[in-house]
Amino acid sequence: MIEIPELALVALVGVSGSGKSTFARRHFAPSQVLSSDAFRGMVADDENDQSASADAFDALHHVAGIRLRRGLLTVVDATNLQPHARAGLVRVAREHDVLPVAIVLDVPEAVAWERTQGRADRTHGRQVLTRMQRDLRQSYGRLAREGFRKVHVLRGVDEIDAAQIRYEK
Ligand code: ATP
Ligand code: MG
Repeated sequence: MIEIPELALVALVGVSGSGKSTFARRHFAPSQVLSSDAFRGMVADDENDQSASADAFDALHHVAGIRLRRGLLTVVDATNLQPHARAGLVRVAREHDVLPVAIVLDVPEAVAWERTQGRADRTHGRQVLTRMQRDLRQSYGRLAREGFRKVHVLRGVDEIDAAQIRYEK
């Protein structure tokens, strides 16, 4: 059971193929989920255009801020593996006096890789995934210090599949 405040900025954290978008679809309404892919698509007509990332996150942070100001729970579906990426989210949350919460999806690299190979929308190689796994390992010790008030870690496919969200009053 994952307990989150009714108003929070929820950062999903996990390597490509860990199941962030699937988790977001399962537990949240589409309008609550801001995905980096969707914002890349919006600003560049191409969800995979990495050169559009800065603009995409700029737009994503802006929309997240508006939602938080309006008192709406907001979930950020991006890998969020880099400290600077997470810092942007913590900043937006703080600007609106909202708690930043992290939900980490940690699956074995082999699982993520097998899933990646079955996807038409992802073309990165194994080394990219290995680097993401390393970034994930390094993220564990940092999340709380970075300002995430709650860090929920789901380890393995079974824990991810069994997870339920409950809202704190
Ligand atoms: P990315 O960072 O590349 O967007 P992601 O973390 O959003 O990746 P998903 O797109 O949710 O990952 O999932 C990747 C693939 O794994 C999809 O084909 C999806 O159907 C499958 N998958 C995700 N979660 C599960 C699950 N819990 N059980 C079985 N398959 C899953
Ligand atoms: Mg995704």
